[in-house]
Amino acid sequence: MEPSEDFKKVMPRELVPVSEIDVRQLSEIYEERDVYLSVYLPTASRDDDSMNETYVNSRLRALRKAVKKDLQDKFEKTYEMVREQMAYQPIRGEKGRIIYASEPLGFLHIYRIGVKPDRKLILDTSPFLLPLAKLRDDYEDYAILLMDSQQAKLFSVRSNVMKVEDSDSIDLMNKHKKGGMSQMRFNRLRRGAIQSFVSEVVEDIQELEDLANLRGIVLAGPGEVKKVLYEGLPQDLQKKIIGVEDISMDTPLGDLLEVGEKAAQQDEREKERANVETLRDYIMKGRNAAYGANKVKAALNEGRVNILLLTRNASIPGWICERCQNIRERVAPPDECPFCGGPTSGVDVVEELYELAQRTGAEVDFVEDSDFLRSIGGIGALLRY
Ligand SMILES: [Zn+2]
Repeated sequence: MEPSEDFKKVMPRELVPVSEIDVRQLSEIYEERDVYLSVYLPTASRDDDSMNETYVNSRLRALRKAVKKDLQDKFEKTYEMVREQMAYQPIRGEKGRIIYASEPLGFLHIYRIGVKPDRKLILDTSPFLLPLAKLRDDYEDYAILLMDSQQAKLFSVRSNVMKVEDSDSIDLMNKHKKGGMSQMRFNRLRRGAIQSFVSEVVEDIQELEDLANLRGIVLAGPGEVKKVLYEGLPQDLQKKIIGVEDISMDTPLGDLLEVGEKAAQQDEREKERANVETLRDYIMKGRNAAYGANKVKAALNEGRVNILLLTRNASIPGWICERCQNIRERVAPPDECPFCGGPTSGVDVVEELYELAQRTGAEVDFVEDSDFLRSIGGIGALLRY
């Protein structure tokens, strides 16, 4: 499908969290011919720049040899668009740049991101989304709450960029001067004040934008008040706590971010393991599971896939019909599609399944390493029914 008019030029000037890029709409775009150039480059340092140049030049040589004669001119014009965008200096906080371009379609998307992508330069019938998909799986948005019994700071973390969302504090000593008060009365007042402070913090959490889409919340800070807060959370929010860390209120922000990233990564690995275990269980019981490219594709087309599981480093060569979208894995593309006579092209079957999952609203989980998933070919799906 051709991109809609308002989706042809998307070039935000500021840093974009990977979770904000509209992969759903990107996955709906494709042509019968190789007219989309997709580029992923790290942009954090000068070393990156010089390695980018070497990489891009060697990919260019390969592509110029491979691109079909009638598309050569369009390819060069598209590359010209991309080259201009690659040359711009990185903005503050930028660690990587993603460019999708097609000169014949007047299509250009540029995203400056705060995380480092692997280098890629790919010419295909659609924007190549797999590297972005993996980044989105690694860098889901989450929140960090740093608190003790007198102060709280709530941060959002989107693609490794940390931002203060809220901060609260109470000054116990000023509000409740101890002079003339019995120790018991003081303690009671103090407890009451902490309790109302904690309720205030809980409210801040509930007011977080996109709370439902967050991977979770990391609780950090010294002492016991974290537990008081945890117990004060409604059940659905308790489930969102992905880590509890004992650290000082003076922890530098960079270190706090590191603590958060560690907890987020651990949460991701746990989620992956749980999904793989469910898949194994379903396959053994012979229900609600599919594996192998063709069966998974059929289930995706029927809208039955709840979660698509892909081995992180899986790449399965095969071909797709650019007209009827028929996919075959592990065979070279025939001259024309045996079903509809349409043009075929060699593809990474994993990329095709990912795009199909996006179009059909299935969740996708890239699994770091699993002997079991590898043993069934690297592709599996948990089905809705
Ligand atoms: Zn076909």
